[in-house]
Amino acid sequence: MPCYRCQRRQDDPARGASPWKRGVLAGEQVLICPECQRGRDWTAELDRCASCGSSALVRTLGETICRSCGTSGTPTGSRSSARAPHESTSPEQGALAEQVRAALDRVLRRDRP
Ligand SMILES: [Zn+2]
Ligand SMILES: [Zn+2]
Repeated sequence: MPCYRCQRRQDDPARGASPWKRGVLAGEQVLICPECQRGRDWTAELDRCASCGSSALVRTLGETICRSCGTSGTPTGSRSSARAPHESTSPEQGALAEQVRAALDRVLRRDRP
């Protein structure tokens, strides 16, 4: 399996600790080569465990298993699912929304005959 970023192939077949990292991206098992890990938060792009937030995930038998806490199931590929459906609006946000609405109102009215 090549590196999912640069498509480089693992050329060192030696057993033991590999500098290549495994992860899950959009529900697919991927490998990241040492070059692409360097100097960046490479885990930020990967799927994360819905329970513990770890990116140490593996795909097994069509399931994503967290190697940190052992949770299996659908990964957080859709990040929006982690958010509460109804977020409470703070007073500041409410005021801002009111201003935007008023501004929109003015613009819309201006266009009317
Ligand atoms: Zn790479
Ligand atoms: Zn976990």
